[in-house]
Amino acid sequence: MRERLVAGNWKMNGSNAPNQELVAGIVAGVPAGAGFRLLLCPPFPYLAAVCSQVQGSAVKVGAQNVSEHESGAFTGEVSSGMLADIGCDYVIVGHSERRAMYDESSFQVAAKFQAAQAAGITPILCVGETLEEREAGATESVIEFQLSAVLDAAGIGAFASAVVAYEPVWAIGTGKTATPEQAQEVHKRIRAQLGHKDADIADRVQILYGGSMKGENAAGLLAMPDIDGGLIGGASLKANDFLAIAQAAAQG
Ligand code: PEP
Repeated sequence: MRERLVAGNWKMNGSNAPNQELVAGIVAGVPAGAGFRLLLCPPFPYLAAVCSQVQGSAVKVGAQNVSEHESGAFTGEVSSGMLADIGCDYVIVGHSERRAMYDESSFQVAAKFQAAQAAGITPILCVGETLEEREAGATESVIEFQLSAVLDAAGIGAFASAVVAYEPVWAIGTGKTATPEQAQEVHKRIRAQLGHKDADIADRVQILYGGSMKGENAAGLLAMPDIDGGLIGGASLKANDFLAIAQAAAQG
């Protein structure tokens, strides 16, 4: 039985006082029960504060991005060693906003994935197709390519300590959620692609769904056999909204 993971991607939102209130609300409201984990991914400047605020709770902290380089003359970049140093356990790599707005290629994403693991941080690898790609019938090939880039660089063994997030770009921040069946179809294919290399690792890897997930649709998505949690944007910015999804994960 795979543990469920509910991760909040705050994106470029927040400031000190409201963050403290949000984190306090989440920590106080973590549903009882085992078999699921909560993760908060605030912007870089707030990572250390959130790490210290969640200490002693069941909530983990992750970053939204990381450099593929270890150290040196890379002005403005943050290394995975630095993230590990301040207590981060996870990092999101290959979010569609970074692929689209910062031209991150699947090969750069693979390098970030490997850099994270080299520092002991669990990468959350985001993959997903745009609306045009879905309408052109290219969903399968797009996801396969994005996943292959990391598989080729890091090998299947690396997925023993990684998370995959399927995030259809057309569902992110749009209020349009993939149906549980649409999401399940892609999740199943992702697991099958990994399974061709190693069935045991594929069976154990957590595959999250992301794209307008909320309290109202979480239970339906999480009921699918290959959906192991959620990567949540908008609904992670309010404690009650985030906790409603956590509740659905805890119940399943
Ligand atoms: C995201 O940005 O990863 C995301 C899933 O956003 P939202 O939940 O707002 O669609």
